[in-house]
Amino acid sequence: MSGRTSGALKRVVVVGNGISGLTAAHTLREAGFDGELTVVGDEVHPAYSRPALSKALLLDGDSPHLLPPPTHGARELLGARATGLDTGRRLITLDDGTALPYDGAVLATGSRARRLSDLPDEVTVRALDDALALRRRLAQRPSVLVVGGGPLGMEMASACLAAGCRVTLVSRGKPLTGRLGPHLAHVLTAAARERGLTVIETGRVRVEGRAGDARIALGDGTVLRAEVLLTAVGDVPNTEWLTRTGLVVDGAVPVGTRCLARPGVAAAGDLAAFPTSRGLRRVPLWSSAIDQAKAAARALVHGDGTPPLSFQPYFWTEQFGHTLKAVGHLPAAGEPVYAAGKPGGGPALMTWRRDDGSTTAVALDHRIPIPRLRRMTRTPA
Ligand SMILES: Cc1cc2nc3c(=O)[nH]c(=O)nc-3n(C[C@H](O)[C@H](O)[C@H](O)COP(=O)(O)OP(=O)(O)OC[C@H]3O[C@@H](n4cnc5c(N)ncnc54)[C@H](O)[C@@H]3O)c2cc1C
Repeated sequence: MSGRTSGALKRVVVVGNGISGLTAAHTLREAGFDGELTVVGDEVHPAYSRPALSKALLLDGDSPHLLPPPTHGARELLGARATGLDTGRRLITLDDGTALPYDGAVLATGSRARRLSDLPDEVTVRALDDALALRRRLAQRPSVLVVGGGPLGMEMASACLAAGCRVTLVSRGKPLTGRLGPHLAHVLTAAARERGLTVIETGRVRVEGRAGDARIALGDGTVLRAEVLLTAVGDVPNTEWLTRTGLVVDGAVPVGTRCLARPGVAAAGDLAAFPTSRGLRRVPLWSSAIDQAKAAARALVHGDGTPPLSFQPYFWTEQFGHTLKAVGHLPAAGEPVYAAGKPGGGPALMTWRRDDGSTTAVALDHRIPIPRLRRMTRTPA
């Protein structure tokens, strides 16, 4: 949809310069918004690929994996943190005291890594600076202990192994099972073990000790140490700057079908919970952030004249020599139907059919394009 902006929308402020903020800014222009656009981001770097931080960036020479320079023509305030939002007076406040008036606002401040302790020894990777610091440490080939058997923990364990480190991964239950389902989890975990990853399946763990001497305590009393202690145990939406707005519910910003939290206030990406076929939920993934941001920006410009968010889950991960791409809901229970390849770990194309009539299509083959997976997938209305 294009066309010029309605007269009421003269100033838009986008808070957050990650993929959802960047996409919202571009989409506002595509949708015909030609007014004053300001993007506020607390990181000093231009926008970059966050998924690369646990994959190629940990291994690739000096590349910071920046995204192409923006063409949205916004005033960019980088290294600036939003500290408050007044929806009545339509003002966003920054940490240096600046107040930015808006007619439309996009809340896109994402999330941060959940931590198990305040100890500086506990390393998490959420931002470019975190990944660059870890990459420098990996060059010394330290021993590494990864806590977290989700996709992020496994990707980082894979990169650390590839960097030549000795790596142990501690997972609550079997790695990847909760996120991907048992079949895919088994394929990837078998590849991980083959490449030398030591996996410890356990219950809840604690970080103990003091700065400079942190360790991991398992429920059975076992204590584990390593030169690098890396945790990947989920994320926490960055909503503190919104606490007095009434926009935050259960730690996220709920939005309607067009990604609006209030008239004139849209929210997109990791901090937003939007209506899905499985209820209102956060889907903290890259392509979900892009889809939400497009819907949010169009809704600010065109209101109810724009279609609601149409969300089809897409997820990918790269680890232990595999690239997995999935369209449709995960985890996938039970055994798949193989459309190509066969069980045993080589390149494969699989589908799972669910009781609700939906299908999930998964490629364990980097050559298979996403549109092919989309054509094989059905999601319930
Ligand atoms: C290491 C890693 C690997 C990942 N890999 C994958 C993957 O393989 N596949 C996938 O689908 N997803 C992956 N994800 C998730 C994906 O990157 C996120 O879903 C996506 O980046 C969310 O985008 P966002 O714009 O909502 O938030 P973010 O990318 O977090 O951007 C938000 C920005 O806002 C800034 N900000 C926060 N508070 C303020 C404030 N008060 N004022 C101003 N600015 C603020 C933040 O610093 C940040 O720059 C990965 C995430 C990480 C951390």
